[in-house]
Amino acid sequence: MDLPLATSLIDGAPDRAQHGHRLEVIDPATELPLCELEEADAPAVDRAVRSARRAFSGWSRMGTDQRNDILYAIHDRLIAEAEPLAELEARTTGLPIRTLAGLVRRAAINFRSFAEVASTLSGESYSQNPDYLTYVTREPKGVAALISPWNAPLALSSMRIATCIAFGNTCVLKPSEYTPQSVLRMVELMHEAGLPDGVVNVVNGRGGVTGAALVDHAEIDMVGFTGGTATGRHIMAAAGRRLKPSIMELGGKSAAIVCADADFERALDGTLAGIYASNGQQCLGSSRILVDRRIADRFIAEFVRRTKAMRIGSPVDPTTEMGPLAFKAHHDRVLSYLDVAASDGAEVLCGGGRPEGLDKGWYMEPIAVLAKDNASRVCQDEIFGPFASFLIFDTLDQAIEIANASDFGLVAYAWTSDLGAAMRCSREIRAGTIWINTPMMRELRAPFGGFKDSGTGRDGATSSADFFTELKTTSIALRDVALPQFGAAAKE
Ligand code: NDP
Repeated sequence: MDLPLATSLIDGAPDRAQHGHRLEVIDPATELPLCELEEADAPAVDRAVRSARRAFSGWSRMGTDQRNDILYAIHDRLIAEAEPLAELEARTTGLPIRTLAGLVRRAAINFRSFAEVASTLSGESYSQNPDYLTYVTREPKGVAALISPWNAPLALSSMRIATCIAFGNTCVLKPSEYTPQSVLRMVELMHEAGLPDGVVNVVNGRGGVTGAALVDHAEIDMVGFTGGTATGRHIMAAAGRRLKPSIMELGGKSAAIVCADADFERALDGTLAGIYASNGQQCLGSSRILVDRRIADRFIAEFVRRTKAMRIGSPVDPTTEMGPLAFKAHHDRVLSYLDVAASDGAEVLCGGGRPEGLDKGWYMEPIAVLAKDNASRVCQDEIFGPFASFLIFDTLDQAIEIANASDFGLVAYAWTSDLGAAMRCSREIRAGTIWINTPMMRELRAPFGGFKDSGTGRDGATSSADFFTELKTTSIALRDVALPQFGAAAKE
């Protein structure tokens, strides 16, 4: 049977050119091929960038209200198609459909939110000098290369696209080779909602081929990247060679501090969700759980009991809490950390086996370990799977020190009923976002991004406007101020 083909989408239409290299996209729940991906080579990437460049003149000059009508229509179209989109994403990523209902909605909301930001942008003016009026305006920056990962393709690609096009830019997006389908469908829907051809182009293929050709293209004005830290370093260096600004949303190894005075049940719910939501494949996962010694035995025992009771199964079953991991190499890498844990001297508390009745697919029982210390690899490496590493602390000072002893600094969580302790965590932990008594609350108006190896730049209302626009200063003389008159003396 012929498999469906995921091509690139250039200038509003599927790119039918044959590029020679095809990849199979595998269903993580069955290990069977889902579709074939036609890899975009350098000439295809070039066509996509040229299409974005052509579209830039019209899109960037369009009035914001007219542009926003299209962005609101995209929001409505994605909401109307939320169910099939979620199912498509569940099949390629293995993410449970119940998680995806929220993520697809978030994808739609990204377009509405950044349209709202664009419609309230204003400039500055300076009239302190009576001879001049000087004003500062924002202009779209140009054509962006956007690169997104496989762990939440719709939510993360839509974030990159929305923050880019809402301010009048155009783009070429490269999704992950493992999960091309849902993003492709989303961009088709965006065109059905009225997006002009060429504003958003999609090139599919491997990072080292299609992604590298895109980042290296001379006509790219900026790079927006979401993915791993090592890839981010590489891409930022490539962009730097061409002096292209880049925004980097990278990895994390975030700490959740559970104080003895925390609401026990809420802290338990929150830390379980913090690490195991989205199959543990989230940059903002609370993968290091730091528990006060006074409640540690009870908390960890309850955590393990609940972890063992999680419903693992088909991602399209609405009762499933955890689906299969996204692809085999990733599944095997996460599992390999059980050996690392053993050599680190960690105690494996649960998980790592194949769940009963699931003989095919990249399933695993969620893992929890009690680490020997924070220096061990299970506390330092981003494992990016359903793998919780526990540590025990005696004082808040110690917990904050452990939270900060990491190369990453994306987010941190604190569970406490002591306002002073909450404020100390907020002030002293070096991370871009601190969540107090809540897991993952994403406020789109506020900046999101990482300290240290977790990235540079921020997504959010003001930060995205700053990244995706250029500032222009115009000065107008209000009277005939005296000018130097070079050569005037010679005339006399
Ligand atoms: P990768 O860094 O491996 O890949 C991310 C994207 O970059 C993919 O589309 C990949 O393509 C592409 N890519 C790889 N190499 C190159 C290259 N040389 N040039 C251009 N593009 C390239 O990350 P993962 O896909 O494994 O995603 C997981 C990572 O993403 C984790 O570290 C996670 O923490 C991070 N992440 C960060 C978030 C944040 O907001 N801070 C949010 C979500 C994830 P391909 O897959 O086809 O190889």
